Amino acid sequence: MKRLLLILLVLISLISCKKEAEDKKVVEVKKPEPIIIEFGFKLNDFDVVQDTIVSGDNFGNILEKQNIGDKKVHQITERIKDSFNLRNIRIGKPYTMLRTKDASKKLQVFIYQADIANYYVVDLRDSVANAYKKQKPISLKRRTIATEISGSLSETLSKAGVNASMAQNLADIYAYSVDFFKIQKGDKFAVTFTEKYINDTIFAGVESLEASFFEYKGKKIYAFPFKQDTASRKVDYYDEEGKVLKNMFLKAPLKFGYRISSKFSTRRFHPVQQRFKAHNGTDYAAAHGTPIVTTASGVVEKTGYTAGNGNFVKVKHNSTYSTQYLHMSKILVRHGQRVSQGDVIGKVGSTGLATGPHVCYRFWKNGVQVDALRQKLPNSEPMNAKFKPRFMAEMAPLKKELDSIAAIKFKK
Ligand SMILES: [Zn+2]
Repeated sequence: MKRLLLILLVLISLISCKKEAEDKKVVEVKKPEPIIIEFGFKLNDFDVVQDTIVSGDNFGNILEKQNIGDKKVHQITERIKDSFNLRNIRIGKPYTMLRTKDASKKLQVFIYQADIANYYVVDLRDSVANAYKKQKPISLKRRTIATEISGSLSETLSKAGVNASMAQNLADIYAYSVDFFKIQKGDKFAVTFTEKYINDTIFAGVESLEASFFEYKGKKIYAFPFKQDTASRKVDYYDEEGKVLKNMFLKAPLKFGYRISSKFSTRRFHPVQQRFKAHNGTDYAAAHGTPIVTTASGVVEKTGYTAGNGNFVKVKHNSTYSTQYLHMSKILVRHGQRVSQGDVIGKVGSTGLATGPHVCYRFWKNGVQVDALRQKLPNSEPMNAKFKPRFMAEMAPLKKELDSIAAIKFKK
């Protein structure tokens, strides 16, 4: 009996062994290698080396490391310099080398990725090198989302499957009407936008925002971008009635009667100091005593007098932006005072280093002085009545689309 049991055990283990062997056999069956096409080449045919440009790298020494003699490297660089500017090679950018699969591993093709979509190819397979620039296929995806706020704006967008970079677009458009630090559950928004993708899969940014509404404290604010001048690049934002959306910043710190006498620049000849220095502001010349207004709402961060600035006021608008106003003849606000967009804060003068009455307007972004005239914040202007029919015709279907998707989404 014992022996029989033993035989049985041996048999069972033999069978299971055979089964294992069979399983193994299945695994060993070689699947055909998937064909990988990238940059227009079948990578399977090459020995592929992928690397990143590091400090000290240049096209020449990368090639030399591939056993291409410096005479040949020189020939190649001369040959391709018109189609591929080798000086533009930057640290941190990826590159790919396709080499022969045999023992010689001879370099065949060099590919430099300038950015997410654009790349340069240097083809060394012919006796004369050939270089060209190519772009990966870009596709556009248009969609509309409607969602309720949960967490911050970017958290809400992420939950809705939208890249968080959209938060900046919305924050800019609604900077005047929505306090994004105070948005809360119950607030809602909907947005129609187009995204850019490379090879259909890699997100490459928001291409355009076509329509949106933000329901804040129970009030729905629509925004539709519109070009009054179709040839210009300037986009203004309007509500569903064609009324201009208020901007976070006014165009200028003076309401009327001014001219820009000097722009922001890294180097200009200072008329008083008689030497070259950076000009960190925009000068608006106006009559002595003209009211100076704060371009955005906020809190007066600083007031005072310095030999250079004269009488000045600095207003903090939020954690990102502050503005400063110099050379006042009179300061009309106190430190810590809350001010609204357009409030008069002082009067034009020529205190400090100034040749004539003007206000030097300084714009601070994240603690750094930047050119106010070059900020990409919406700076919409009222619509000329003659464009209104075109606006209404373009806006109507966009609004209908937003509303119908929001109706489905927010149906109780
Ligand atoms: Zn100035």
